[in-house]
Amino acid sequence: MLPYEQARRTVIENVEKGKGPRVTADISVWNALGFILAEEIKTDREYPPFHRSTRDGYAVRAAAVTSGATLRCVAEIKAGDTVAQPLAPASCVQIMTGAAVPEGADAVVMIEHTTRNGDSVRFDRTAQAGQNIVPRGSEAQRNQTILRPGARLGYAELALSAQVGATQLRCAAKPRIAILSTGDEVVAVDQQPGAFQIRNSNSVSLAAQVRLAGGEPVLLGNAADRVDDLREKISRGLREDVLVLSGGVSMGKYDLVETVLKDLGAGFYFDAVAIRPGKPAVFGKCQNTFVFGLPGNPVSTMVTFELFVVPAIDLLSGAAARDLPLVEARLAAGLNEKPGLTHFLPARVEWRGTTPEVKSVPWQGSGDIAALASANCFLVVAADRGQVNVGETMPILLRKDII
Ligand code: AMP
Ligand code: MG
Repeated sequence: MLPYEQARRTVIENVEKGKGPRVTADISVWNALGFILAEEIKTDREYPPFHRSTRDGYAVRAAAVTSGATLRCVAEIKAGDTVAQPLAPASCVQIMTGAAVPEGADAVVMIEHTTRNGDSVRFDRTAQAGQNIVPRGSEAQRNQTILRPGARLGYAELALSAQVGATQLRCAAKPRIAILSTGDEVVAVDQQPGAFQIRNSNSVSLAAQVRLAGGEPVLLGNAADRVDDLREKISRGLREDVLVLSGGVSMGKYDLVETVLKDLGAGFYFDAVAIRPGKPAVFGKCQNTFVFGLPGNPVSTMVTFELFVVPAIDLLSGAAARDLPLVEARLAAGLNEKPGLTHFLPARVEWRGTTPEVKSVPWQGSGDIAALASANCFLVVAADRGQVNVGETMPILLRKDII
């Protein structure tokens, strides 16, 4: 049985090896949030394109401004403007934030450090050359590469593209992730379940996780625990880049997913991971499609998706596999878990002071979705830990979807 870090590496190595050329599309900068860039973006000019004032105040020659100096204000420059004349000796120009500093001026003095009397401006401290000016070209040169293929487009990357006039962005097409739940007890979420049936909540969480990870969910519904139905629906899923199954990978008499996958020609890279929840998780390749068989208990499905499916989607999108969002937090209540497996316990982290404090939430095990909905992270209890005391520092895995 693999430790989860090794299982992740197995996913990353195999998906890296097995991916072909990606389809691309031009996406408007307004719609490209979460896409992965498939081209270089270069600047169209220098940034800033002019010596930019970062303050409202007076553009001056620094050498002329000592404490108590007085200069004549000869003009005003609004943002979007400058003045044609170089700054004359013994004069200054009123300037606004974002405006172009005129030739001859090498400093901007904040208005707060001046007293105005008609045309005359008195300065109450000495100016330093360069102060409150961002020099032309200091952020980027002209034709400089500012974003590369593989960049994940978040709000700053989109703004940067927009800034340089790149409003249509060549992006990698999102990998298509087939989602198939299994189980005789499972009914569609818009159906009324019988007394011993359950709604297909896993397809909903998986679709959300696929979207958050940057994939395109392809919903295949639910397969009964029967070879014929599994075979037909799995075969349909094998047309996509990745097939994610929930349920049917444990040791029960009706857990037939692995058998059917094998019949269809699958090879497995692992079929168990040393974690709880999520131990029976399976990863393999079948007819050129990567396949994940995730255990059906909802929290197991969610945890194993975050650990193993997200890096596959990253790579198939043309990005690097992201690291897990693990951070350290101080334990606010002791823990006593059975050693042997790495535990992922639903927990709540709060940032009251400088150190985050974390506490596991009460839960009934891996079927307890309500517990996870009251949590914002997982406490990661290493396989050799078991007992952990209040005040100890522990790694937590953040739920990036809500934090
Ligand atoms: P399995 O991994 O097939 O043994 O499923 C374990 C348990 O997870 C089942 O007994 C159900 O309670 C639950 N489960 C399985 N599939 C789903 C699903 N699609 N949505 C919600 N819960 C599920
Ligand atoms: Mg089942």
